[in-house]
Amino acid sequence: MYQMKEAILCKYGEVILKGTNKKTFENQLMNEVRRRAALVGDYTVRYNQSTVYVEPNNEEAEDMLDVMYAQIGKVFGFAGICRAAVCEKTLEAILEKAKEYLPEKLAKYKTFKCTAKRSDKRFPLSSPELSGEVGAAILETIPDITVDLNEPDIIVKIEVRETYAYIHAGQDRGAGGMPLGSAGRGMLLLSGGIDSPVAGYMMMKRGMTVDCVHFESFPYTSEAAREKVLTLASELTEYCGKIKVHIISLTHIQELMRDNCEEDYFTLLLRRFMMRLASKCAEENHCEVLVTGESLAQVASQTMKAMCVTEDAADRPVFRPCIGMDKEEIIRISREIGTFATSILPFDDCCTVFTPKHPRTQPELAKVLVEEEKLDVEALVEEAWLTRNTVVLYQEL
Ligand code: ATP
Ligand code: MG
Repeated sequence: MYQMKEAILCKYGEVILKGTNKKTFENQLMNEVRRRAALVGDYTVRYNQSTVYVEPNNEEAEDMLDVMYAQIGKVFGFAGICRAAVCEKTLEAILEKAKEYLPEKLAKYKTFKCTAKRSDKRFPLSSPELSGEVGAAILETIPDITVDLNEPDIIVKIEVRETYAYIHAGQDRGAGGMPLGSAGRGMLLLSGGIDSPVAGYMMMKRGMTVDCVHFESFPYTSEAAREKVLTLASELTEYCGKIKVHIISLTHIQELMRDNCEEDYFTLLLRRFMMRLASKCAEENHCEVLVTGESLAQVASQTMKAMCVTEDAADRPVFRPCIGMDKEEIIRISREIGTFATSILPFDDCCTVFTPKHPRTQPELAKVLVEEEKLDVEALVEEAWLTRNTVVLYQEL
């Protein structure tokens, strides 16, 4: 018979503050943990009192606990996660387990404190009595460690729950944010750059389900540029499990713009076409908002005026999670989430095709509209819309 030795405990983040709809958030959180658990092995996932328990059901799953723990670290909605030794709910078993499990965990610390919690009030010792017993066992087994009740280097926690007792020391930060799927759907305009994958991640972190739309301009942009974007999207599946990428061609629009419109307005006109097509794509895929990687004043097309002109062509709100971030901060997040190396691969984006030498930084909408009238906007949108195709990507371990 398999006897579980270690489990993963995950503590809720903001979900804890929810009222009557807490259950919905909990279910979303559980779905995401279960989805990941199924990728790794045979685990039982359950929750109790603002903690999710991930428990191996066999030796193989126990051996994969490192991998499972890394997966749990990417689940939005948890503030803290830890591994815990599991044992029977008797004082004897708890003390034996503490002596076996804790020396390695406490090795690098000088002072500690024990706290105990019983959700099973039938347990014969009170919480202070239990923490006293475990504290004494630690002092006995680990040389040179002392108790500090006020400012311990590490806190040892014993939790006597309904089926087992859990012993753990120290916890890691969870991914934070809100459970995936808890905050509606958005359509992310995903380029091959650094910023838009970060924008997608930021929204996922707040619980948004994200679809992507990518615009290309073949043959001015390459097959490799498309592959790069798909790689970025599959890197984002690390955080959301599944992602759809809709790809739309802007080639004809860009050629007509080049032939008919004033060069200074190329980027703005292009971005307005992106907004219209992204809005259509959002409508078709039930996304209530658009999401971009824009950051105030980063480039000519991201001045406040330019963004107003761009947004005017969208039929729904545009979320810009990077709006107040410096490039440096965006790059830091990009490195942390693992998209940076792909983002800096040197392939052209349709925004860099026919780039104006002197892009307008303080554009007037009226002037932009005059340029736009030189094109049959509606027909071009319909034509580009027909070029769309969709790729669905899934997380792989
Ligand atoms: P990024 O690093 O995300 O490419 P950027 O700083 O290079 O951003 P722009 O190229 O001006 O800025 O693009 C601003 C935003 O417009 C991007 O963050 C992205 O959301 C969207 N965007 C730009 N190009 C494309 C594209 N080819 N397909 C889809 N969205 C795009
Ligand atoms: Mg870009």
